[in-house]
Amino acid sequence: MEIFLPPCRTKIIGTVGPSCGNASTLETMIRRGMTAARLNFSHGTFEDHLHNIAAFRSAAAAAARPSTILADLPGPKIRIGQLASDPLTLEKGDEIILTTDDMPGTASRISVRYKRLSESLSEGDTIYLNDGFVELTVLDVQKDSVRCMVVSGGSLLSGKGLNLPGRKVFLDNPTDQDLEIMDFALAEGINIFGVSFVEDASALVKVRDFAAKRGKTIHTVAKIERAAAIDNIDSILDEADAIMIARGDLGIEIPIEDMPSVQKELIHKANERCRPVITATQMLMSMVEHARPTRAEVTDVANAIQDGTDAIMLSEETAVGRHPVTAVTTMAAVAASFEQRHSELLWISALREELKNNLVRKQISVADMISLNVAESVLALDISFVLTSTVTGMTPRRISRLKPSSWIIAACDNEAVMNFCFMSSGVYPLIMDKKTKPWHESVVEKLKLQGIISPGDRVILTEGQFSGPRGGTGPGGTDTMAILTL
Ligand code: PGA
Ligand code: MN
Repeated sequence: MEIFLPPCRTKIIGTVGPSCGNASTLETMIRRGMTAARLNFSHGTFEDHLHNIAAFRSAAAAAARPSTILADLPGPKIRIGQLASDPLTLEKGDEIILTTDDMPGTASRISVRYKRLSESLSEGDTIYLNDGFVELTVLDVQKDSVRCMVVSGGSLLSGKGLNLPGRKVFLDNPTDQDLEIMDFALAEGINIFGVSFVEDASALVKVRDFAAKRGKTIHTVAKIERAAAIDNIDSILDEADAIMIARGDLGIEIPIEDMPSVQKELIHKANERCRPVITATQMLMSMVEHARPTRAEVTDVANAIQDGTDAIMLSEETAVGRHPVTAVTTMAAVAASFEQRHSELLWISALREELKNNLVRKQISVADMISLNVAESVLALDISFVLTSTVTGMTPRRISRLKPSSWIIAACDNEAVMNFCFMSSGVYPLIMDKKTKPWHESVVEKLKLQGIISPGDRVILTEGQFSGPRGGTGPGGTDTMAILTL
């Protein structure tokens, strides 16, 4: 057991791709602050992913960190077909036909890999291509084709995405391809899955059931990237273990000007419900090319932390960018600086106030009461560490969402819980045998041995001491909080 704290409490998820898919680069990225790997199954072969999984696991082992891997399923994303030649440029004012026939695309006719395109559209609808850079308006709808006019022109590559904001999409979620990917990833021992384009809880239930039929327990991350998901966020949060604000598609599926407030509201809701939340996409986009980010990008990273995000994500920056290591280093530096200089987070104080109001109204659970007291004690006293014992990971998450300024060491029973705990802000999970010796003593010894704490330091301890060690909700959960001076 080694306790090797990352440079910032906010977690950094790096997408693994050709730019960083080797153990030595990944080990450096982990040491600089990357805490989890995302495998984007929209790209790459199973062979590529096998290689990346092995590389990340050996890098995490070398750096003595949990090897938290998120397998991100593509979901029902509509894509255009092959183009006769890449790139193809569409000009404003041009007419173009989208067809469900498979044919090489030209400036007058492009194939779309979605058989029920016509059923989803009516005259006057807007269609976006290539991350929203190309905008079309529907002129008329035939059985297997849709005639459109180019409203904003731009260039297209084969296989680029197509979005139909607010329209119903008649595709299964998860898709058959998603299930094949799940079979592959489950066999590789991966148990955290990103579920794309959820509109309600049903896709999450199906993904969980599919794993359960194979005897596997998984954690699901609901990717919020459709307008319907915002309307159904409460039932999604009932079912999902975490959410991702997938701003790439979300910024097309809803008016882009609404996205900042939606981000804040989603993060706040996830915090209320003790679900880790990932803010994703274009956080340091300019670093795909450049070794330094823009001022707006670093501010975006800090603002997401201020909103109460648990994790911030890098996509192209680490997968295909020119500076994968520098992108992680920069992100970690921005997070560390912000956490240090701005510890009282705006939306988090609102959440604390909510809990305090519940307390005044005598409508607070034992579990919430303990998490609130831990957070308040960290604020009021000089506390080096919070040590929690957990079965499900709920107790550290309940404390983490209040974003105390000290690390939360979570003593877990198994690897799946440990890996998922590593997605929550400020949680450093360990697997511990909690039966043979008072577990907190081993942690304290270790922290002392590593020179991280010294005699006289204070730590907070939580556990299910008197009503049985059960996860943190209901009877038998965390019932005890102690403040120890070492
Ligand atoms: P994607 O998800 O990269 O799988 O599309 C993230 C996003 O949409 O932002
Ligand atoms: Mn997406």
